[in-house]
Amino acid sequence: VKILVLNSGSSSLKFKLFKMLDESVICSGLIENIGARESLFSLSHQEHRINKKIAIQDHYEALCIVFDLLFEEGVLVDIAELYAVGHRVVHGGDKFYKATVVDESLIEELKSCIPLAPLHNPSNILGIEAVASKAKELTQVAVFDTAFHHTMPNHAAQYAIQASLYKEDKIKRYGFHGTSHSYVFKQSCKLLDSKTEATNIISLHLGNGASVCAIKNGKSIDTSMGMTPLEGLVMGTRSGDIDPSIIFYLHKTKGYSLEEIDLLLNKQSGLLGLCGENDMRMILQKAKEGNAYQLAIDIFVYRIKKYIGAYMAILERTDAIVFTGGIGENSEQIRELICEGLEGLGLYLDKDKNLNTSKKDLILSQTNSLVKLLLIHTDEEKEIAIQTKEVLKDLE
Ligand code: AMP
Repeated sequence: VKILVLNSGSSSLKFKLFKMLDESVICSGLIENIGARESLFSLSHQEHRINKKIAIQDHYEALCIVFDLLFEEGVLVDIAELYAVGHRVVHGGDKFYKATVVDESLIEELKSCIPLAPLHNPSNILGIEAVASKAKELTQVAVFDTAFHHTMPNHAAQYAIQASLYKEDKIKRYGFHGTSHSYVFKQSCKLLDSKTEATNIISLHLGNGASVCAIKNGKSIDTSMGMTPLEGLVMGTRSGDIDPSIIFYLHKTKGYSLEEIDLLLNKQSGLLGLCGENDMRMILQKAKEGNAYQLAIDIFVYRIKKYIGAYMAILERTDAIVFTGGIGENSEQIRELICEGLEGLGLYLDKDKNLNTSKKDLILSQTNSLVKLLLIHTDEEKEIAIQTKEVLKDLE
């Protein structure tokens, strides 16, 4: 029996088919540039690889193509082989705090969360509707990016603005990357051989989107993203934390419209805004002492260090700091820069271990380091498959 996991981004669709028994991957693929004149489709199944360029209008069409291809390629022979489909859903608002079986009312609730995640929730909903149109009887489960942070106490979740905006309008910090933070936390406990309910870690998910999470005794107590993924760290194209007055200044003094500011802060800022490049590999290659690329790296690293200090304070005891995401897993240089100067906080990076490029999860700190430093390879799709399986087992 198999579980299909679908991860719809704003213009992409990642899919992975898992064997339910051991969560091994049977087949995986990706569609990029959905909505553009030419979308890129790739699928890997055993030794077999397909790459195609076709026009795909939206996530509904993308999903229909994936479904048809799984049958054409013989990956699936009968729909009954599928136990369930697990969807990554970006924003669950304040209603959903665990993986939930999809029904009509859930779809309606998701639609009401669109203003909170206008780039992602519409494609997540289209994905769910496309599966329903292909196989009505198939069980679908929504796994929310926000759910893991439901445990954040009010003093971390609430903004210091009028309380009614929190109570009535649900304006608060929700946090994202929850499936990744939850997965790397569990993997960290395995690596440390420690109990989840007695382990405190700071999880650094550093990819094109980036966030930090403080996890105390297995529960998220704070995270850097807020009501939307814009708050917090410097990201590929998002600014992260800024003084909100900049928005008024841009509007009143420079005549920017709200749409232009939205675009500026979400798509044209962060690393891209600082140096014209959002791919960390390229930035590292081009960085020389003193140029804009180097400054972008310095600002990126500096913000992470500030969050580490803050989260070590609120955790009271930090067992480990975990690096994950495309940058966290692959850039020994960024990891070293982040750890530089933090010895006073009990962090001692082992520079040789840090150079290790194996695909395994690793401890990167020196044996005497009070706070362990870990490299954990995140796997959001696997976590979605696990949560899908668990929620359905609970219902049996
Ligand atoms: P993600 O969003 O998790 O896929 O991460 C994407 C980011 O990881 C991009 O900024 C990539 O440039 C970065 N990345 C991937 N591999 C490396 C690497 N070897 N060194 C530095 N950055 C990398």
